[in-house]
Amino acid sequence: MARYIGPVCRLCRREGMKLFLKGERCYMEKCAIEKRNFAPGQHGKTRKSKMAGYGIQLREKQKVKRIYGVLEDQFRGYFEQAERTRGITGETLLQLLERRLDNVTYRLGFATSRPQARQLVRHGHFTVNGRKVDIPSYSVKPGDVIAVRQSSRKAPAILHAMEEVKGRGIPEWLQFDAEGMSAKVGSVPTRAQINLPVQEQLIVELYSK
Ligand code: SF4
Repeated sequence: MARYIGPVCRLCRREGMKLFLKGERCYMEKCAIEKRNFAPGQHGKTRKSKMAGYGIQLREKQKVKRIYGVLEDQFRGYFEQAERTRGITGETLLQLLERRLDNVTYRLGFATSRPQARQLVRHGHFTVNGRKVDIPSYSVKPGDVIAVRQSSRKAPAILHAMEEVKGRGIPEWLQFDAEGMSAKVGSVPTRAQINLPVQEQLIVELYSK
């Protein structure tokens, strides 16, 4: 599946908020949002956007896509799946994104950012229920056990990340076993457990036009 490969700090500046796409750098003064919190491009500093309706909905969608590193077609696919599922569409959309294997490994602290988690998954560092899975979009479900592969337990990138993000906290829907470098999916995350400053209802309104 394709992914965005351009400069990522630009994406944060476009959304006017930290999307945490670069790991440790996001918590430092070097972060572009700390230094240049205005839109990218020639007129970014001077042009004040007067957004309303469609513009606000579009920005909300772009923000969520960028946080999870998903491009338009795949995002639309998640939305259609959410629409077909019982429940609140916006919430289901976030749950589907949150259950992606790359996001789960990030939430567990095996990577400092979602892009890094995606790369670690691609490189085959994780198992689900004992079997290697190298598909970042793989959707975990309650009862699944996600673990760092035996041969990857000393991988410097993973050990470094675990040390680096120790204080970040792990969502309650994941039952983490630090020693075993694994976790069991206890349940589907509730909206309250998905700690994201987004208004998913705006995305539903955008796609429902
Ligand atoms: Fe965004 Fe991180 Fe870059 Fe800051 S350092 S602008 S949070 S990707």
